Amino acid sequence: MSQQLVIASSNLGKLNEFHQILSPLGYDVQSQSAFEVAEVEETGLTFVENALLKAREASRVSGSAALADDSGLAVKALNGRPGIYSARFAGEPRSDERNNLQLLEALAETPEGYRQARYWCVLVLMRYPQDPVPVIVQRHWEGEILAHPRGEGGFGYDPLFWLPDQGMSAAELTAAEKNRLSHRGRALRALVEALSETP
Ligand code: IMP
Repeated sequence: MSQQLVIASSNLGKLNEFHQILSPLGYDVQSQSAFEVAEVEETGLTFVENALLKAREASRVSGSAALADDSGLAVKALNGRPGIYSARFAGEPRSDERNNLQLLEALAETPEGYRQARYWCVLVLMRYPQDPVPVIVQRHWEGEILAHPRGEGGFGYDPLFWLPDQGMSAAELTAAEKNRLSHRGRALRALVEALSETP
């Protein structure tokens, strides 16, 4: 029987990526919206704190194991910003388009060669709400921030995230290629490995 895993996110881009990677491995991936889990306030100051808050709440409300992802973009020239504020960089209501414009504006004076960035993904799996030893993994993906968007795929900052080795932006990759390379793909594979070691 496949194991039910509630994903503590309403972000469709993330949910698709989780589904693509976890379903073939036999996980019954469900969105937290199917259980009417409300968004928790992300009051932590690190990705891992926020992921813990989200996983605990999704597990509490759904009564099931829950997987949370807290992720974002850390730009070297901006001292790691937008970081944990990536989804709301340009304020509320959240908008990928406005966030991307805000990022371009923040880097307007930063020349090519100084625009290194990392996507970070922290995953937390809680088997039940009081799980005292949640499974935690964090992985990153290196790139550079473009001066103009390229590509239509992915979500969030992908059109601005340049991959020198691939010679394209993250939004120009196929979904399968992004899963193979990305911070989230890497973190998910590490999580699955960790679960196979500690079932
Ligand atoms: P969270 O939902 O609070 O974890 O915020 C994640 C935010 O980080 C997203 O809304 C995007 O702005 C950004 N982000 C994280 N992962 C990706 C990705 O794979 N592509 C593009 N943007 C991402």
